Amino acid sequence: MPPHDPATRLATVKESIARAAVLAQRKASDVTLIAVSKTQDAEAIMPLLAAGQRDFGENRVQEAQDKWPALRETAPDVILHLIGQLQSNKADEAVALFDAIHSVDRSSLITALAKAMDKADRRPSCFIQVNIGDEDQKGGCAIADLPALLTEARMANLPVVGLMAIPPADVEAAPYFALLAKIARDNGLIGDLGGLSMGMSSDFETAVTIGATHVRVGTALFGVRA
Ligand SMILES: *Cc1c(COP(=O)(O)O)cnc(C)c1O
Repeated sequence: MPPHDPATRLATVKESIARAAVLAQRKASDVTLIAVSKTQDAEAIMPLLAAGQRDFGENRVQEAQDKWPALRETAPDVILHLIGQLQSNKADEAVALFDAIHSVDRSSLITALAKAMDKADRRPSCFIQVNIGDEDQKGGCAIADLPALLTEARMANLPVVGLMAIPPADVEAAPYFALLAKIARDNGLIGDLGGLSMGMSSDFETAVTIGATHVRVGTALFGVRA
């Protein structure tokens, strides 16, 4: 059994975010906590909804389609974030369901999303995902390709709000968070365009001290995934 109930875990994570924000002389309200509910069923999600959590993250379109329409009836103001890889042929479904897409990382996907958004007349916020550790098999564009991709996304009218990254596992994440923040600045992504989606259960406090505007936290809220 988890040591605490979900509402207590939520409060604990929020306190940690607040502490990290104070340390960095930032406002905690500038950090959005995304509860990563992938693999969690409605029974696990409901207590967090009851505790007031509204931003949730899913990594698969199909799973989110199965779970969220019913949950949204109990909480219509939920904000759903797609944090996993997106195939271009799922762009219509993703645009219909999600309020933010954190995994925009290639030209073909930009084209597909632009088409889907025009068709649906709905424009989820977009984060461009950067392969910050230059790892094979990881999602995200190469750092060198980011400027061109940003231009392309703007030309296609995608509402780009910042960058997202998943640092390499099992190494200190801080240098990668700092690099993502620097790349954002170097590309003129500041203010409303300067979103930084970075930090997970093991390192979200660090991410907040380095400027994260969105942290994606699963395990610390729900316990270890089955
Ligand atoms: C699963 C996942 C998370 C959450 O990971 P935890 O370690 O459980 O907090 C965050 N971001 C992405 C992209 C994920 O796939």
